[in-house]
Amino acid sequence: MTSPVYYVDGRFVPADQATLPLGDLAIMRGYGIFDFLRTYRRVPFKLREHVLRLYSSAEQIGLAMPWSVGEVEAIVHETNDRNGYDDAAIRIVVTGGPSPDLMMPGQQPRLAVMAEPISTPPERQYAQGVGVTTTRMARILPTVKSLNYLGAILAVVEARKIGAVEAIYRTPDDHVTEGTRSNLFIFRGGKLLTPESGILPGITRQVVLEVAAREYPVVLTDLTYADLLGADEVFITSTTKEIVPVVKVDGQVVGGGRPGECTQDLMERFKAYVDRCLTGPSHRPHSL
Ligand code: PMP
Repeated sequence: MTSPVYYVDGRFVPADQATLPLGDLAIMRGYGIFDFLRTYRRVPFKLREHVLRLYSSAEQIGLAMPWSVGEVEAIVHETNDRNGYDDAAIRIVVTGGPSPDLMMPGQQPRLAVMAEPISTPPERQYAQGVGVTTTRMARILPTVKSLNYLGAILAVVEARKIGAVEAIYRTPDDHVTEGTRSNLFIFRGGKLLTPESGILPGITRQVVLEVAAREYPVVLTDLTYADLLGADEVFITSTTKEIVPVVKVDGQVVGGGRPGECTQDLMERFKAYVDRCLTGPSHRPHSL
């Protein structure tokens, strides 16, 4: 297979020739942000929302964004078009750029856009559900999609050792907030509950809330570890996962040990939503 084409700092290059200077603050200090979206049948899903979240991340860490929203979107489209994958995973990365003392951010951030064929979870995860663990790690600035996934990597390495696919952040006062790369939902007594704060505002989460609001009472609220263990149904959401049912938490069975009915209903509704976006009339022909 041919190498993907990436956009890096003003140029389109084969992925294996895409480089950044070592002195970039992203490499030296982890100072940078990104966003991650996917395409369905070549059409970027929720591109505007992802780009706006990128800007929000940048603003929260004081990172200059010398490009307009339209420019970033155009680069995403061009990267996507040049690669031509049916279902692509697209990463938009903004690095801190050069810094005279390798500490203070300058005004020359670097922009990169990467595209690869998307790799989605195996079908059995949707059919049978997955296990997750909880971790005492915490994200600093949880509303920022920063390049620093140090705690996430450590937590997921531990999770994999017991066959779990994701780790859920657990606070000192025993709240569960979100996964390392996903948002967390539970069903309890026919209501859908998900945390409102201390999380990355997931784009998939937003779609799920929209789709669910027509069918279920939705409550945005803090969730405790006990809420999670006692839930009728649990699921996680993300761009690559969409909706994945959770049947085990820290090795304990939750939600009867199989994907719940309401979760399965939402999985159907999510797919229908995507299909509607792909086939429905759109004022922006390129994006959903
Ligand atoms: N929380 C965190 C910490 C994440 O990294 C992600 C993945 N971007 C999510 C939630 C889910 O967000 P989205 O639905 O936009 O992929």
